[in-house]
Parts: sequence; C-alpha cells; structure tokens
Amino acid sequence: MSKQRTLVRNGHVLTMDPDLGDLASGEVLIEDGVIVAVGPSLGVTDAEVVDATGHLVLPGLIDTHRHTWQSLVRGICGDWTLGDYYFGIRLGISPAYTPDDVRLGNRYGAIDALNAGVTTILDFSHCNNTPEHADGAVQGLLDAGIRAAFCYGFFESAPEDTRFGDHAARIKDFHRIADTYFGSDGRVTLGVSLSEIFGLPWEHSVDELAAARERQALLVNHAGCVFGSVLATGILEMEALGLLGPDMVHVHCTTFGDAEWEALARTGGKVSISSQTELNMGFGRPVFERCRQHGIAPTLSADVISLNSGDLWHELRFGLSAARADAAQATNLAGRMPDNVVTTAREALRWSTVNAAEAMGLGDKVGSLSPGKRADLILVGGGALEQHPRVDPYATLVFQTSAADVQTVIVDGQVVKQGGVLTVADRDALTAEVDAASERILGRVRDAGRELPGTPPGAWAAIEPMARGFHQVAVEAARSARRG
Ligand SMILES: [Zn+2]
Repeated sequence: MSKQRTLVRNGHVLTMDPDLGDLASGEVLIEDGVIVAVGPSLGVTDAEVVDATGHLVLPGLIDTHRHTWQSLVRGICGDWTLGDYYFGIRLGISPAYTPDDVRLGNRYGAIDALNAGVTTILDFSHCNNTPEHADGAVQGLLDAGIRAAFCYGFFESAPEDTRFGDHAARIKDFHRIADTYFGSDGRVTLGVSLSEIFGLPWEHSVDELAAARERQALLVNHAGCVFGSVLATGILEMEALGLLGPDMVHVHCTTFGDAEWEALARTGGKVSISSQTELNMGFGRPVFERCRQHGIAPTLSADVISLNSGDLWHELRFGLSAARADAAQATNLAGRMPDNVVTTAREALRWSTVNAAEAMGLGDKVGSLSPGKRADLILVGGGALEQHPRVDPYATLVFQTSAADVQTVIVDGQVVKQGGVLTVADRDALTAEVDAASERILGRVRDAGRELPGTPPGAWAAIEPMARGFHQVAVEAARSARRG
C-alpha cells in the first residue's frame, strides 16, 4: 500500500527543536502520520500539499490538566470561589451528568481544544459516576480525533447515593477500562487522576497509586491548593513511602513549602499551572518562580472550562504575565526596576509544547517538529488584524493570537481543521446539541433541589475532620516507613 504523504509548504516554521531551530521559509514532510523531514526545501513532488504561505507552522499546543467533561457548563463559575466550585460542580452538577453527557462533554471539549490548536490534552476525568460514565468519557475523546491521556478519576460525586458501592469497585472499573480501550499504543493513552489526598482514607490513595503503577499509567495529582487549614498536600508522606515519581503531574502546588518543592525536584515530579483558575478563584499565585528556583520545567493547563476558555493561548498570556509580575515584584520591593523580563515569549511557548510533552511522558512523540515524531502541528496566521504585521513570531503567538487565528490543525497526520473550518464536526449541529444537553443537566440539578453553587457555611471547616483523619494515618505510615 502506498504511503499517505503530506507536505506543509512555504511556512515560517518554528520547530521548537533546539537542533532544527526556526526556518523563515520551510517545509515539513509527513508520512503516515509521522514527521519524516523538515527543511528549507525538500524537493518533494508526490505529496498532498498544505500551503502555509503567510503562516507560522509549529507543534500543536499541549494542555496538562483539563476537566474536559465540564465543557457543557461553560463559564458557569464566572463568580465562584474554589469552595463554590467544589460544592457547585463536583458535588452539585457532576451527579446530574448522564453517561451520554460525559461523552458529549468530552467530545465537544476536545473539539473546542482542537479548534484552538491544542492537539493534546491530559483529561482529568472525575465524573465517572458509573462504569458507563467512564466508557462515555473515553469514547468522547476517541470520537473527537484529539491526542489525549484519559486519566481515570475515582471521585465520588454523590456519597449519599453512590452508584459504585465502594472504592475497590472503582479500582476494578479502572482495570476494566484499561483492558477495554488501552491494549495498544494509540492516540489516546491511559492515566489516573488521583483523588484529592485530603478527600479519602489514606489507604485508598495508596491503592490508586498502585493501580496506576501496575498499568504504567500517567498520574495526575491536584496538590497544594487549599490554604489555612490542616489539609495536607500528601507530598511528604508519599515521598516517605517511595510513592512519588517522574510519572506524576502535580497541579497548582500554590501552598507548597520548601520541603514539598525539594521533594518534587528530587523525585522528578512535573508541575501544571492553571493561572486563570488560581488567580480568579482565590487559591494562590502561579508557581513559576518556585519552578525556576527548583529547576522544574513548568507546563500550563486550562483546568475548568466551567470558568475560563479552553483556548490555551489565553493561558499562555496569563501565565507569562503572572511569571513576569512575580519576578518584577521582588525587584520592585528591593527598590529597583527590572533590567529585563524574566521569561521570553519564546521560552513561554516551551511550557505548552516541549515541557508539556515531557511531563505527559510523550516527549518522544510530540512537542516539537522533529523527524520521527508524530505529526501534530498547527498553522497560525490569516487576515485578522491582530496577525499583522508579524515582527516577532513568538510575541505574536503568545500575546496576539486566539483560536480564530489557528487556521489549520493536523493531529497524527490527519487534518482536523482547515482554512479556519473544523473538519471533524458540524459546528452548528454540535453547538445545538451542547446547548440542549446543558439545559437538561441544569434542569436535573434544579429538580434535585440543589442550589448552585450550594456552598454550606463554614465549608472548609466541615471538611477538616476528614482531612485530620487522613493526616494521622498518613503521618504514621510515613513515620514507620522512615523507621523501617
Ligand atoms: Zn483541576
């Protein structure tokens, strides 16, 4: 059978590969979904041509933490705190999702990502209320044509009305999902979304970690985002028991002290920063400076589309602004003005390409336009006012670009958006379906008599006894591990 060959021609190519660098006018040759050559002129005449004249050509963006299912309640958390989010979304809206809703939410959310040039997402999937919900979540990602790590979450959204029985049944269902969908090395790979350490008996957390390791699944961990209480991050306890590792993406980390940072650095832990949710929902300052101090490469995530857009260009802007503001503040407080910016736009683009691929264990597959890697790439440009003139391509990308400027998107060699138009979905049909599903979900929340966001008075204090229980067990376990 002849190979499927595609030549992306005459674009300004930003490879993000240190050896290849940038080509003011270059070509990328794709063969059966693999990048086989990058150069100024490849002399190829027998390939299908994608004309990139006037466009930047670069690797697709990578999001390292997104609760994709929440795309069906886009923007509902506009004025909610993190506490409101926990009670409103995790305990209020999640129980009202059907398996079909999860499937549609994941499909729609993944297509929304593709539309913005985000070709890979780490799907932190914690609406698995029944086995069918988990099937729906995987199916939605598969249907969308995106590259993703489906990270199975064990969270119980309706403790008074559980549909799983117990935690062991959830672990068993994770293995069923692993066997059903993840036998071969496909575009969608397997992960585990660790339940919040403070939300579970400690031995359940240990079971989740073991299940992930048994399947060599990527681990993602909401860590250190609640201030002023006994809610432990679990980082030091996990380290004492040898449970931290380079296969873990730790999200937020805004409450970490030096000891937690040192533990992450020692064990090769990865970090995902969601500047928009952190800054808006009141859970701390993005940790770019801490990452820099500890030699950890930052990555970015849109987190919740129930608050902010899934367009990762916005996250890049917020992130770079936060990183620069933090660095400048230290200088300003010392009575000086900064001589230069702490991070360049070019360096920031690494957060959502090379660094993110590495964090997800996909460094040999995506993240740069290097021969041998899978062909996930995007063409940015077109006639929009904000794309002209383009003096510094990296500044244009980070400070001036949005989803509308992403003209063509290729995943695994397959075109999913071309000339500004999605080819994987009928946009009008999809948005009509999404609007109707969203109305039904919120209707079920109302019918169940649940107020939104529904935060009880003294909400965090109410969680504390549970957290204290965890803490004692974990601390004791870590202590005896140190003795042993
Ligand atoms: Zn999250």
